[in-house]
Amino acid sequence: MDKNEFFCKGGPVPTNRQLLDTRLFYHNSGVIYTRFREWKDNDKFYFTPLFMRMTYSIGGIGVEFAPDPVWLGSFVRTSLSHPDLFAFNCPKCRRVLYPYRYCGSPLSGRVDLEGGCPCGWKGYVIESGWFMRGEALRKQIAADKDRHDKYELIHPGAKSATIDELLAWLER
Ligand SMILES: [Zn+2]
Repeated sequence: MDKNEFFCKGGPVPTNRQLLDTRLFYHNSGVIYTRFREWKDNDKFYFTPLFMRMTYSIGGIGVEFAPDPVWLGSFVRTSLSHPDLFAFNCPKCRRVLYPYRYCGSPLSGRVDLEGGCPCGWKGYVIESGWFMRGEALRKQIAADKDRHDKYELIHPGAKSATIDELLAWLER
């Protein structure tokens, strides 16, 4: 069993398709971040669900930074609005990167910002300050809730977009 499996109990269980789609976000986060301005006002893409399993652990018990699914737009906007918390330099080429996922531990205060770089580097950098980052993300999600409710009201039963569809739309 995956060591992070426990926190899925009670929450929505992602399908394999949704997990693969979340991984597609990891692989394409560079372009998705840099072209945020183009898709940020499109509700269909903004509310694409991501299942990132972002946890921190307290005494072996996992707690989520924010419960899955996390909306793509809320996640990307949080990083871009807080470069002090989320921007980091590629350890190999020093390019400025943003994470596609993060995990951590409040005991050590440690957060691992995971990312990838066009130069080929892929991995994570260790920072301190797990609380601030989780709080920033949860605040953004709360702030986006009204927009999401409105979207659901106008488009009842609408299927959420996938990362696949966003990438195709960006290439149109
Ligand atoms: Zn690099």
